[in-house]
Amino acid sequence: LMDALADQAALAIERVNLARDLHLTRLQAETDRLRSALLTSISHDLRTPLASILGSATSLRSQDAFLDSPTKEALLGTIIDEADRLNRFIGNLLDMTRLESGALKPRVSAAEVSDVIGAALQRAAKILAQHRVEVHLQPNLPMLALDMVLFEQVLFNLLDNAAKYAPAGSLITIAAGREGDSVLIRVMDEGDGIPAGDVERIFEKFHRVEGSDRRRVGTGLGLAICRGFVEAMDGTITAANRSGGKGAVFTITLPVPAIPPLPAEEAAS
Ligand code: ADP
Repeated sequence: LMDALADQAALAIERVNLARDLHLTRLQAETDRLRSALLTSISHDLRTPLASILGSATSLRSQDAFLDSPTKEALLGTIIDEADRLNRFIGNLLDMTRLESGALKPRVSAAEVSDVIGAALQRAAKILAQHRVEVHLQPNLPMLALDMVLFEQVLFNLLDNAAKYAPAGSLITIAAGREGDSVLIRVMDEGDGIPAGDVERIFEKFHRVEGSDRRRVGTGLGLAICRGFVEAMDGTITAANRSGGKGAVFTITLPVPAIPPLPAEEAAS
């Protein structure tokens, strides 16, 4: 009897091992598939701007004698804009890697909401040149505990999207106000908004709304980074469509610190 039991136990263990191996093989195959899809997508995103740069630079050299100065200026403009886009894309990839490896350690210090909004607007000035921008700040907002670099990046990504997905000439609004123990910061635009089924999924990395204009080049990383950064500062970020009108609204909620945060110099030491 003991022998029969031992045989059965051995058989059962064998089956469990087989099932586990099969599961691991499938997982490995899925990981490989995702990795290769990721590499294809990244290579494509790197190649598109590079092709423009190469094309413009080649024209500048080979046809130099025949080009008038506005045409040369336009070609140089393309080179700079596309290089800028490449730079931002690589920045996004690095931010995402930092987030996922757990290497992201926010350096929080006392920050004035208006200062961060100002800094983000300044950095996005060129991108926002075709839009009207309004800032509505509630007076006497409390100091927040923020990592200025991360938070500026969050606002920059939201402004970049607003400029990308809302038509030229339309209004982009940034509003900040206190609600209970939180400060809410909103970025609103007058674009087409987000299809209901995508409102939550747009925060997933590489998720882009199906059928959206292909000229609006993007990586699908911007909002995933926004959410990662905001959560690292104990906040939340959500998307919705504006109830009163047209367009999307992104709402960041940040806790008002119970104890006033230290200014940057003291927080660093
Ligand atoms: P990207 O803009 O590079 O595609 P994001 O992560 O920033 O990546 O955004 C993901 C998707 O969410 C976009 O592709 C777009 O479909 C949608 N989206 C983002 N911001 C807006 C907006 N302000 N209005 C409408 N759709 C938006």
